[in-house]
Amino acid sequence: MSTDTNTAIHVAIVGGGITGVILALGLEKRGVSYTLFERAPAFTEIGAGIGFSPNAERALKVVDPKVHELYKKVTTSTGEEEFFTWVNGNENNEIIASLPIGVDAFQGGRRSEFLEAWSTLIPSAKVKFSKEIESLLQKDDGKVTLKFKDGSLDEADIVIGCDGIRSRVRQLTLGEANPASYPRYSKKFCFRALLPMGKAREVLGEARTLSRFMYTGLDAHAITYPVAGGALLNVLFVVTDVNPWLLERHTAPGTRGEVVDLFSGWHSSIRGLVDLLPEKLDKWAIFDMYDYPAPYYNLGSVALAGDAAHASGPHLGSGAGFGIEDGLVLATVLKAADEEVEARQSGKNKTQICRDALAAYNTVRYDRDQWLPGATRESVELFHWRHKEVGSKDHEKFLERAHHLFHTIWDNDIDEMVKTAALEFKDVVFKQSQPSLYGSRISQ
Ligand SMILES: Cc1cc2nc3c(=O)[nH]c(=O)nc-3n(C[C@H](O)[C@H](O)[C@H](O)COP(=O)(O)OP(=O)(O)OC[C@H]3O[C@@H](n4cnc5c(N)ncnc54)[C@H](O)[C@@H]3O)c2cc1C
Repeated sequence: MSTDTNTAIHVAIVGGGITGVILALGLEKRGVSYTLFERAPAFTEIGAGIGFSPNAERALKVVDPKVHELYKKVTTSTGEEEFFTWVNGNENNEIIASLPIGVDAFQGGRRSEFLEAWSTLIPSAKVKFSKEIESLLQKDDGKVTLKFKDGSLDEADIVIGCDGIRSRVRQLTLGEANPASYPRYSKKFCFRALLPMGKAREVLGEARTLSRFMYTGLDAHAITYPVAGGALLNVLFVVTDVNPWLLERHTAPGTRGEVVDLFSGWHSSIRGLVDLLPEKLDKWAIFDMYDYPAPYYNLGSVALAGDAAHASGPHLGSGAGFGIEDGLVLATVLKAADEEVEARQSGKNKTQICRDALAAYNTVRYDRDQWLPGATRESVELFHWRHKEVGSKDHEKFLERAHHLFHTIWDNDIDEMVKTAALEFKDVVFKQSQPSLYGSRISQ
């Protein structure tokens, strides 16, 4: 591929999780040249469930209507109003609060099914598997050289790090000595599993398996929702930890016995659900970037997106949704940059235009993204009955706070966000040319 200063821009996407794949699809739809580099030998995601919030669903439509169609194929339409329903799982199994989401909204599916479906829209020539990024060189001519662990090199005008919570691109962008380059333990861990629906129904009753329920309690909660066309129930048990997480890996082998002990004082419904777990299952430490947030997402011709930029816990069900919003904004500004490279109305060179696009992306996304890790930490305090203003018994206040947190996420005006991104790019690119802050540097 060519990265000559006079030709169209070429984007390297590092990481083929949900954020990287959605960015690739956004660029594909808009005719912007790209290559996606993924460490794994194929698009791989664990089978666990994931749900897409209403804002994320609206963003998928704008990325490409075909992406949204595939999303709908994976999920099961109920044609009915969906709710988030919270239950007192600790004491009496009674509903304490309910929040309407919208008709057919926040549908769940298996991650692997979404990625498998979406990746069919990416031409295979634009994906390189088994490519683990090791270092980046931003050169004086504006291009970026990518060096991979297997010793191979590639080149692009722009690199977007979509390489997840333990992002190498973040380390290279913020510096290896910067604490913001590494996520921290949020003092919560979880167990997740997919249970056969028939067995789950025997325990919970049919009504509790048709949509999304959250069982709250002291220092723990559980979430359940149907996936695989209603054949399986996705379950997630989240527990507050008083200990540090000492392992390098974010997962550790766990057992059903551990979960039995942790939920032994809970209502029989939850204990029944725990009994359905497999004998051996992974324990997942929940890390996030709340303690040391990334101070910015862009450095010269490199930027961060998705969990690489703003990893947060899973408690508001929105990490992937924010990655999708990032991907849409990036696709918007990179398309505008591509057109400006052709038109040259600003009088700037290709490198300046590319960097302006990433600066515009940073401006549009930073504040909203950075709100998420803190809001997620607040939500888990709420669900674990430790919220300072709400506690365990005030259900009205519980709903008020939950409404605020979820609606801040769900109500994002996606069309307005896209318009703002395009305007922000214009604003930056037509400003007087500034000398580049970023000379040649190598990151090892
Ligand atoms: C239990 C749980 C439940 C969740 N539920 C929801 C939910 O319901 N809804 C929601 O919106 N979010 C949810 N989330 C959050 C969501 O899973 C993440 O925010 C999302 O998957 C992040 O996607 P990503 O593409 O940014 O990163 P990742 O999914 O981590 O993808 C990163 C990709 O980069 C690759 N990679 C890593 N390093 C390199 C490298 N050096 N070189 C090349 N490639 C590399 C990886 O192999 C991977 O494919 C949940 C999270 C958890 C833990």
